[in-house]
Amino acid sequence: MALDPELLADVERRITVGSTAERAVYDAFASYRALLANAGEYLAGRVADLDDVRNRIVARLMGVPMPGVPDSDEPYVLVARDLAPADTALLDPALVLGFVTEEGGPTSHSAILARALGVPAVVALAAATDLAEDLTVAVDGSTGEVLLDPSPERQAELRRIAAERKAALAASSGPGQTSDGHPVPLLANVGGPADVPAAVAAGAEGVGLFRTEFLFLDDSAKAPSEDAQVLAYRAVLEAFPESRVVVRVLDAGADKPLAFLSPGEEPNPALGVRGLRSLLEHPGILRSQLRALARAGEGLPVYLEVMAPMVADRQDARAFADACREAGLRAKFGAMVEIPSAALRARAILQEVEFLSLGTNDLAQYTFAADRQLGSVARLQDPWQPALLDLVALAAEAARATGKSCGVCGEAAADPVLACVLTGLGVTSLSMGAASIPYVRAALAKHTLAQCERAAAAARAVDSAEEARAAANQVLSGE
Ligand code: PEP
Ligand code: MG
Repeated sequence: MALDPELLADVERRITVGSTAERAVYDAFASYRALLANAGEYLAGRVADLDDVRNRIVARLMGVPMPGVPDSDEPYVLVARDLAPADTALLDPALVLGFVTEEGGPTSHSAILARALGVPAVVALAAATDLAEDLTVAVDGSTGEVLLDPSPERQAELRRIAAERKAALAASSGPGQTSDGHPVPLLANVGGPADVPAAVAAGAEGVGLFRTEFLFLDDSAKAPSEDAQVLAYRAVLEAFPESRVVVRVLDAGADKPLAFLSPGEEPNPALGVRGLRSLLEHPGILRSQLRALARAGEGLPVYLEVMAPMVADRQDARAFADACREAGLRAKFGAMVEIPSAALRARAILQEVEFLSLGTNDLAQYTFAADRQLGSVARLQDPWQPALLDLVALAAEAARATGKSCGVCGEAAADPVLACVLTGLGVTSLSMGAASIPYVRAALAKHTLAQCERAAAAARAVDSAEEARAAANQVLSGE
């Protein structure tokens, strides 16, 4: 594209009549962009490629680093201010050894993606982008340490520790349960068929969160066709025979914009028309997704469950359940608990749907009024915050009282000690990136349900995330 003679001639003409080179490139690309965007489904999909080429040329002209994910043939640690979901879709998992980001909290998409890839990540590291390129760094995701230029001896030692950790985990297998046999199904969070092999290899007992919007982030200009959706959903459903697969309908907006679903300018997108709200404003898109799910599940021996993101109240839950029924979907319908109002009134929501799934990432964001993309407020997104645990307890208790299930599919479920606490709070399943499953399985297997309940009570009896973590660890280590 960059070598196209007509495009070059257009740029030169614009420069001759007075544009700067950067402006000329931008404007020349704009006319091609419009042509492609209107030229049918396949070519419209190439608009993003054209924008990428344009941005790279403009960056070169301005003498600033290339935007987006760098090209490399060698494995590398990616250091960035933050990563957008669309950037991360382009990463080659064979080449990325780890992430370090300046922004982003523990539930940001960079952190979620790192867990999905099973690579270590450190987020919210101030001045991370000051790190020089080509420096050798070692990233320890379990302690949050980034070591600069470690000596060859230290490198060898770090490699040995990493290999030992991996070997210990490989030994864990089987369904999730406490040491006294209380079952806690361990499910996988997936973003599409590409994540399935790792989930199966980790022994996931099903899928607890299929983030369907991830399939469409790289081409968010138009709504996905029903047929394309059927193929993608079926590929995931087929991988889990006789198992639960919980599919979340498109969750667009704020940190996951999809052009065909996002509203115009809003002063606070995270508080605007997003998640279920946008689907209710675009009932045709919701209907086509539900129909695609119904078709994808046809004839497969799978327990399909479908849930809505960002449910605020009973009215939302009812609107979603009605839409599922109208689409003829034979599945369980559920609601995500991501807004404090949904946890507070979980019983009312359970009058309309059959299960709850706690999205602790957004639940923390909305409980603490702390943007999950902002490193500076990462302290408040810590899922060990006792206020968050209180809301989890409320939702789990409502589900227990009505004989329904209440899982956790936010990043909280991926923390092995917190997973024990969540179990103690009454949560009925845990869903996480595949790489975390062995860690959580091993932690649960070490403790009884009663110990988990005592750890949960201890964590809720204090007033900070640090104290909650310490209190739970103390109970679980039997000190
Ligand atoms: C959540 O908010 O916890 C969640 C699971 O959804 P997402 O991270 O995709 O917003
Ligand atoms: Mg969410």
